[in-house]
Amino acid sequence: MSAAARAPAPGEPEARLLAEHGILRLRAENPGPLTLSGTNTWVVGSDPAYVVDPGPAGQAGQAGQAGERHLERILAAVRERGGLGGVALTHDHPDHSGAVAALLARVDAPLAAAGAHVAGRRVDVQLADGVVFGPLTALPTPGHSVDHCALIAGRACLCGDAVLGEGSVFISPDPGALAGYLDGLRRLLALPLRALCPGHGPAVFDPHAKLTEYVEHRLERERRLVAALDAGARGVRELLDAAWADVPEQLRPVAAVTLAAHLDKLAEEGRLPAGVQRPSV
Ligand SMILES: [Zn+2]
Repeated sequence: MSAAARAPAPGEPEARLLAEHGILRLRAENPGPLTLSGTNTWVVGSDPAYVVDPGPAGQAGQAGQAGERHLERILAAVRERGGLGGVALTHDHPDHSGAVAALLARVDAPLAAAGAHVAGRRVDVQLADGVVFGPLTALPTPGHSVDHCALIAGRACLCGDAVLGEGSVFISPDPGALAGYLDGLRRLLALPLRALCPGHGPAVFDPHAKLTEYVEHRLERERRLVAALDAGARGVRELLDAAWADVPEQLRPVAAVTLAAHLDKLAEEGRLPAGVQRPSV
């Protein structure tokens, strides 16, 4: 198989993304319950191109070959687009940032991320609200992780794990995480976006509907949680049964993490009754 990125067939969402926004999707071969069909790496623009979220690190064995194939596809796409202008991260989780070192070892370029260091390397451009990096402008969207930023490229948003192409995300219980998350979603809602390019799953061409659905989803969880608390539930199990009953067994530990973030928000707002068990996360 050629290492070059396969050209998307006309009619595929990928072809539309490329035609309307000059953005190419390359999916890493790391499918799983949290990564869905795999981590999306996005190649934005040309002359030079910018890479958002290079994906997971290659490991020994078969996964290593998959990692190497993904890296080769990124390098081929960048070559076709007149070289690499920079690499940006939506957040420093290993399924997004693991390949940073390998990519930058092959072709050097500035690195942009919210943190000061990634993969033992000093970040060249620290992302914060409004920081511009090539064609990308950062908009903080904490929640999934404390360092999470969406990257705006024209009418498209590289939204990392703030919004996924399918299903919902988990929220890490950092102080103010859920309130900050809702705030970030509402700021994205106010932009004239035409496409969301998520960290996992397909591109979304109706950003307004998707973002509204995400805000509503969080508020619905909160309504169910508050109803359970009002009915006297205090234990983690009862609260998960009441508000996250639809979550498959294997994702329950992840739901418990999000429950903690919801409980923190209620506590921050002075709405949490006494004696509620907080998941140990
Ligand atoms: Zn991810």
